[in-house]
Amino acid sequence: MAYLINPQNTIAVLQKFNFHFQKKYGQNFLIDLHVLDKIIRAADIGPDDCVLEIGPGIGTMTQYLCEHAGRVAAVEIDKNLIPVLQETLAEYHNIEIINEDILKLDITALVQRENGGRPVKVVANLPYYITTPIIMGLFESHVPIDSITVMVQKEVADRMQAAPGGKDYGALSLAVQYYAKPQIVANVPPNCFMPRPTVASSVIRLERYEQPPVAVEDEKLLFAIIRASFNQRRKTLANGLTNAADLHYTKEQVQGAIGELGVSADIRGEKLSLLQFAQLSDILKGRVSE
Ligand code: SAM
Repeated sequence: MAYLINPQNTIAVLQKFNFHFQKKYGQNFLIDLHVLDKIIRAADIGPDDCVLEIGPGIGTMTQYLCEHAGRVAAVEIDKNLIPVLQETLAEYHNIEIINEDILKLDITALVQRENGGRPVKVVANLPYYITTPIIMGLFESHVPIDSITVMVQKEVADRMQAAPGGKDYGALSLAVQYYAKPQIVANVPPNCFMPRPTVASSVIRLERYEQPPVAVEDEKLLFAIIRASFNQRRKTLANGLTNAADLHYTKEQVQGAIGELGVSADIRGEKLSLLQFAQLSDILKGRVSE
């Protein structure tokens, strides 16, 4: 089977199988070799690696993953793509094609089965409608992962990599940066896909930390504080935390904790670093909540 990564070969396969794109599944297939090369290089895959690909589509990237990795597990929700993948990947014997919804799959069990529970590398051109649930699901469920190299909407990649103070900095930046070191490796225009998406895209590599970069007593409280701080973006941190439905601190307790942190009383959440959020969380943990 010829490589699919160009418009002619992609169209030929789509026509052969009379395939119709399903908008609800975020189907935008990659047709640019240059971008594919960048993804494969950034993912840094070798024969000892087991790769989890989310949404293989017609198998464009999967062909290259199979050639570089020891083993590949590809999870595709659209049953109409399974016969296509069986043909486009027929010559590879290190692939398992799984017809499932990635959000419903027990990925830890899959990693156990495919790689004896050792960390896998996730590589994907993600369906944009579920980017955040997929990535946060992988981190929060503590699936053994070495790195995640994915194509996402450019705006989302910018938010994942943002530093405190900027307009892109928010709950997603902090959540991702608690688990991994982000690095945007390429910006990708719409004409690299078929059909073209309406937004610009970026490839981002997230290198999983063995230990989070900050120590915190209560992870759940940390994330509740982060969410509350960015829920009402133009409010002060003190108001955000006092008004949060799932936190039960008085205004005095919140103001006292912010004072103890050593920052100004009217600071906004977007100015705090991950370390400061962790410190604030530990200070509030010691306060009695009502
Ligand atoms: N990897 C292919 C490529 O680069 O050409 C396709 C990428 S396309 C942006 C996203 C793929 O994810 C589609 O094949 C789509 O059917 C699949 N997909 C969408 N939702 C999914 C889900 N919940 N679980 C698994 N796959 C999904």
